[in-house]
Amino acid sequence: MASIGVLASEKIAVGFVEDHHLSGAVRVFPPNLDDDQEYLSDLPAEEIARSITGQIQAVGAGREITAIGIGFPGLIRDGLIQESPNLQQMKGQHLASMLASLLAEQGINAPIHVMNDADATAAGVAATRGQLDQQIRVWWLGNGIGLGLYPPVPGAGEGGHLIVTLDPKEQFCRCGGTGHLEGITGNRAMRMRFLDLEPEEVFAHALQGDARCSDFVKLWHRALAAATATTVHLSGPGKFYFSGPNARFVQLGLIDLYVHEMVKMSSLQSSSFEVIATSDEIAVIGAAISAEQTT
Ligand SMILES: [Zn+2]
Repeated sequence: MASIGVLASEKIAVGFVEDHHLSGAVRVFPPNLDDDQEYLSDLPAEEIARSITGQIQAVGAGREITAIGIGFPGLIRDGLIQESPNLQQMKGQHLASMLASLLAEQGINAPIHVMNDADATAAGVAATRGQLDQQIRVWWLGNGIGLGLYPPVPGAGEGGHLIVTLDPKEQFCRCGGTGHLEGITGNRAMRMRFLDLEPEEVFAHALQGDARCSDFVKLWHRALAAATATTVHLSGPGKFYFSGPNARFVQLGLIDLYVHEMVKMSSLQSSSFEVIATSDEIAVIGAAISAEQTT
């Protein structure tokens, strides 16, 4: 089975996937984009769809394609972008049908499946680690916080907004909600809390013994542990991965300690935690495989 996987978040990454493996290199557009640059956020919705179409065409032209999977940031249902805090112009757009009609003009008629980008990453982790028969949960830690699930679970899928504190002063989440995980652990929230420090400086100062930063790093891990414990109480223990640019700050010993303090029922205590480097390739593979399984 051969399909195309796409990750469209800050940039567009596209790959051709045959039998769960990439065939050739992943094509990234625009090339040479810095980590903190965002290409898609400046484009109108129609241009985003055209840009994705162009990259799919570049990879898929002249090939037999079974399915096309698109990983996209936000809350997505049946091809419709219901919410996309980072790409607000896409809210209310039916991305799947926009792409279908643009691709049909180019003679590409494969079924299209649009999914949350964190779920695409989770599927890619499952596929590349031979764990497609297991439940995989991947925390994505970056500007925003995502929880990718494999197998995907229908619903809102906004794990970054799980409630981790009842303190009414905790209001740094981008969505405006009180007490949210992202309001403590996301980059924007950290910048609002430490007006004088960048997130990496906060973690560096904590290592050097700065009390304010050390206290916050504990809170950061407690928040992640609390959200993890909540998902354990809802859907059972298992394997949790941490990925994304801020996964480098995760101290697994602290997560393990705090989750054990928060989850006390013995039948729920068998979770394990691992930091993994994820890449465009993993999300592209995951998007393609999810599309094959769905369409
Ligand atoms: Zn929120």
